[in-house]
Amino acid sequence: MRVGIIGAGVAGLAAARALHRAGTEVVVFEKSRGFGGRCATRRVGDFTFDTGATSIAPRGRPLEAVMTQELDSSDLVVIEKPIYHHQYGRITPGDAPKFRRYAYRSGMTKLAKLLGEGLSIRFETRIESLEKVNGTIRMGNEEFDAVILACPTPQAQALLESVNESRSLANTRFRPCLSLLLGYDLDLGDVPYCAVIDPEQRSPLTWLSVESAKSPGRAPTGSTALVAQMGPEFSRANETAEDSVILNEALATLARLFGPKWESPSLAEVKRWKYSQPETTALFDTVNRPGSKIIIAGDGVMGPRVEFAYESGVQAAKMLLEE
Ligand SMILES: Cc1cc2nc3c(=O)[nH]c(=O)nc-3n(C[C@H](O)[C@H](O)[C@H](O)COP(=O)(O)OP(=O)(O)OC[C@H]3O[C@@H](n4cnc5c(N)ncnc54)[C@H](O)[C@@H]3O)c2cc1C
Repeated sequence: MRVGIIGAGVAGLAAARALHRAGTEVVVFEKSRGFGGRCATRRVGDFTFDTGATSIAPRGRPLEAVMTQELDSSDLVVIEKPIYHHQYGRITPGDAPKFRRYAYRSGMTKLAKLLGEGLSIRFETRIESLEKVNGTIRMGNEEFDAVILACPTPQAQALLESVNESRSLANTRFRPCLSLLLGYDLDLGDVPYCAVIDPEQRSPLTWLSVESAKSPGRAPTGSTALVAQMGPEFSRANETAEDSVILNEALATLARLFGPKWESPSLAEVKRWKYSQPETTALFDTVNRPGSKIIIAGDGVMGPRVEFAYESGVQAAKMLLEE
């Protein structure tokens, strides 16, 4: 069996790894230059930011054992500091952590790199359509016995349409997220939290990750790296707004939380995620029937987090192997 996989995010790589380990020939197609999809890391100068998922909290699900026992864990860090709350310009302690939260020192992309070790991956190859040819599926000028679509479900839906297939994906809806990367030549000090969340989502800025408190080496000594994620309502309303409009809103909140100096970062970038996390998901078993040669994986058919993306990939591989 030869399997083609679209997407070198955690779902696609989990599927590819499981198939490869079972002796199946697998090729992964990835439109971007690197691993990880929404487990994305950006390095600017001496700053390192996780622009998508900022941590993984697998809560005992299978990915936890994979990260801690199967994959090289030398770069893995357990985030010791808890998550605090921010509301109306004040930061207050949040709930006591109930489970372990992880990150990778070099950035979250590392998880994908580890999952992808030894696999055959065609980077910078966007699959525009599929074609059914004599019982096989052709994509990117190659033929496969089966295909796994491990991309956000709206993108999978478009690929399915190219072969006149439909699955009940219509109800899966992804939200956008504007994620801001902020570097400061200022020291936030030894804060007692790794991130702050607005639990009621009243502020446009709902999640602030202190990258330099989360894991060591994210910013030079005396500097601070922050990732500010804007909430779904603000992100939807400002999907196409100028960077300055988005930055002004976030920086005003930071000035309120930490003081006026925090309104002037030395580095500021806006990362726009059109499909950040599914607000509603489909059920893997409903969209994927046994015998199908096109399997849908990814967080859109399992749940809106990295550990679910992983499980969707493993399940997709299992389904093909069982046949
Ligand atoms: C801002 C943000 C914050 C998040 N925070 C957290 C968090 O704190 N904790 C957590 O657990 N999860 C978080 N998530 C969600 C988590 O990142 C995702 O659930 C998970 O990474 C999804 O993995 P995936 O493999 O399903 O999809 P993706 O990572 O999106 O991978 C899909 C891949 O397919 C590629 N692709 C798409 N179409 C094509 C095509 N036609 N041809 C070739 N390649 C294609 C894409 O480039 C991408 O690399 C967050 C996500 C975002 C964006």
